[in-house]
Amino acid sequence: MKIAVIGGGINGLTSAWQLAQAGHQVQLFERDELMKATSAASSKLLHGGLRYLEQGEFRLVHEALQERRWWIKKAPKLTRRLPILYPIYRDGRRPRWQLKIGLSLYDLLSGRRGIGRHRWLNAVQTIRCSPDIQAEGLLGSYLFFDGQMQDQQLGLWVAEQAKKLGVQIHEHCPVVEVDTEARLRLGSDGSWLHFDRVINVAGPWSNLLLEQSGIVPPQGIDLVRGSHLLLPPVSRYGHMLEVPGEGRIVFVLPYQGQTLLGTTEVRQTLAEPIRCSEKERNYLLKVYNHYFISQRNISDIQREFAGVRPLLGGSAEATRASREYAMNWQGQLLTVTGGKWTTARALAKHVLEQVKFSGG
Ligand SMILES: Cc1cc2nc3c(=O)[nH]c(=O)nc-3n(C[C@H](O)[C@H](O)[C@H](O)COP(=O)(O)OP(=O)(O)OC[C@H]3O[C@@H](n4cnc5c(N)ncnc54)[C@H](O)[C@@H]3O)c2cc1C
Repeated sequence: MKIAVIGGGINGLTSAWQLAQAGHQVQLFERDELMKATSAASSKLLHGGLRYLEQGEFRLVHEALQERRWWIKKAPKLTRRLPILYPIYRDGRRPRWQLKIGLSLYDLLSGRRGIGRHRWLNAVQTIRCSPDIQAEGLLGSYLFFDGQMQDQQLGLWVAEQAKKLGVQIHEHCPVVEVDTEARLRLGSDGSWLHFDRVINVAGPWSNLLLEQSGIVPPQGIDLVRGSHLLLPPVSRYGHMLEVPGEGRIVFVLPYQGQTLLGTTEVRQTLAEPIRCSEKERNYLLKVYNHYFISQRNISDIQREFAGVRPLLGGSAEATRASREYAMNWQGQLLTVTGGKWTTARALAKHVLEQVKFSGG
């Protein structure tokens, strides 16, 4: 079948790759450059998402843990296994036993594809791993493992694999209109191109494209911005930290010789610029300074970036919004919504199944 994929983020690229592997003729249209939007603004974690266990998202966590291992195995130069500390303080929100249950489940859901089991470190051992961490009230930490990736480069690696299988990639090619008969119109020349199926994987912009085309979006999207700051290095270990007084988690991770601090959850519209606000900057620095002895301020920020999560709509609280994905056909047009970086290949396999069931 002749299939068009709209969007050159990780979900569009893995979809194009999977479809080409199954023998379809695939063309991918990206309005800017590949891997320059949400997929390059992630926390760089290939992870199951320990915190989603609290929300009962067992299917998603299980799938993501299997995929984590796959990425690390397939692209060892662009990924690595990262040790992460979850410190527990006397006045912490989550007791040690709760973490123990969560991490045991995390290991269990990884099954034979685990990348290392968690263990308890006492306060002295924790400080040895992370010498700048606040010692007052520290009971110890759980050490566990997740994957870390160079998100942009890993996505470009996927693009190379897709190209080798014949996928034609068109950059700087915005799609301005689609219809339910698998046709699309490009901004550059205005004529309609005909396909057998069109897959709309435009991330945060997927509903905008439908609305622009006079099609009612079948699935609501919650747009939630997340920002990151890059600070001077602090430890070789990652840290998963409870935001004081909130249920949220913030990561402090070693990344390319610096420290990656993030992230935030702020609702926004596509009309607003996608960038880190002063409020987010101050919020992130406040969390960092709560946990580390060497205090950081605005002048320590070496770089910052932001992206918008295209989350399945309908959740009152951004923190609790599902990271699952959904697929909806309207005629020969399939719109894909949601998902995580880690699960992009699994999402793409579902896209392929959907195409098969639709008669392809
Ligand atoms: C702050 C933050 C941190 C995150 N951290 C992690 C993490 O650590 N681990 C993890 O697994 N996941 C993480 N995620 C989730 C993950 O990054 C996203 O789920 C994923 O990148 C979404 O990819 P996508 O391809 O759907 O969207 P995008 O990467 O946004 O790609 C969509 C593409 O479509 C293009 N496009 C839009 N409209 C058109 C059009 N009309 N014509 C042609 N092209 C168009 C855009 O230019 C863009 O390139 C994070 C997300 C955020 C925001």
